[in-house]
Amino acid sequence: MQTIAPILPPATLGMLGGGQLGRFFVHAAHEMGYQVWVLDPDANSPAGRVADRHLQAEYEDFAALDLMAGQCAAVTTEFENVPAGTLEYLAKFIPVRPGAAAVSVCQHRIAEKTFLADNGLPHGPFRALHGVDDLADLPAELFPAILKVARFGYDGKGQATVHDATEALHAFNGFGGEHCVLEKRLPLDCEVSVVLAREANGAVQVFPVAENRHRHGILDVSITPARVSDALAAQARQVACHIAERLGYVGTLAVEFFVSGGALYVNEMAPRPHNSGHATIDANITDQYMQQVRALCGLPLGEPRAHSAAVMVNLLGDLWYRAGDERSHEPDWSVLHAVPNLRLHLYGKHHARAGRKMGHFTVVDRDVEAALSVALAARAAIG
Ligand code: ADP
Ligand code: MG
Repeated sequence: MQTIAPILPPATLGMLGGGQLGRFFVHAAHEMGYQVWVLDPDANSPAGRVADRHLQAEYEDFAALDLMAGQCAAVTTEFENVPAGTLEYLAKFIPVRPGAAAVSVCQHRIAEKTFLADNGLPHGPFRALHGVDDLADLPAELFPAILKVARFGYDGKGQATVHDATEALHAFNGFGGEHCVLEKRLPLDCEVSVVLAREANGAVQVFPVAENRHRHGILDVSITPARVSDALAAQARQVACHIAERLGYVGTLAVEFFVSGGALYVNEMAPRPHNSGHATIDANITDQYMQQVRALCGLPLGEPRAHSAAVMVNLLGDLWYRAGDERSHEPDWSVLHAVPNLRLHLYGKHHARAGRKMGHFTVVDRDVEAALSVALAARAAIG
């Protein structure tokens, strides 16, 4: 069992990655009295702009990593594609949570699927593709299938739907021969996710299960609590805990699931807070970012219970563009401010692009159906 003395304010914490997940971590850490240094190559990264210091550098810039190791009491990440070598390097000097081994399983789809299979965890049929030879003798039951590059995919990028082995070969070559997984496309009843946090001593706290709707491969709406049976929700929470334990995970972890034919299948894991956990900021006693701070600092985890039902809606860059006009326009936020139980979060990104996550809003209500209808009406009103 790995224990360290708790890290207390005004210590400085390190964050690898400067996106919105990092920005919310900075907010949580600041609220709790810590300082935060953010490392991200983008001069305008959302987290870098609110950090005590932004190290504008690449993830393998060792001079920047030395600075971080010299000043920060511990380091975490908000971006699963931070090179494992970077985490290993930092871990020579300061606690790195989650650790390189756990992150590397989550950042490679073949490693991830193999981990699920080795641990007897429910997952859909798949084939690991290291080269064209692995495309021989594919069973017909695998199709229709989704080909996914093993590394660096997100928001549905690096994916192609294929209907037979010929299409699979074509798409595999189209991805430049990168290692891939070929997954059976499951008919989905719905998708759910579980966010949890785990302490170094193994204590775990699990957030209520979220029900997720995607549009074009990108999370669109997240509904908590998920409208699934208690048994299914309990199973999802149990599988997520099992994963955290087997990974020796420390920090905030998200597990995405498919529900197909009434059964649960793990889709993927994210070694960080998750888009579907944003609503915990507005609807839970402790949110997923506070848990990340607590786990990182060796503090006991907080109570994750929700005090309200919540519906989170992502605001993508598409909202900034009107049909037939190439210039971007700031949406009319007064439409959303008019809804009293709606909380708007904008990430301060300078450039709106189609599909880019620019912000989100959360509607909280005692009743989940009421929250959903208010949220959908608000979304329709803003565009
Ligand atoms: P990303 O890393 O982009 O989130 P995912 O593997 O989670 O990649 O895929 C994004 C979305 O695409 C999923 O949430 C789901 O809606 C759909 N999808 C992906 N794989 C499958 C599958 N095997 N069967 C059915 N739908 C899928
Ligand atoms: Mg996903």
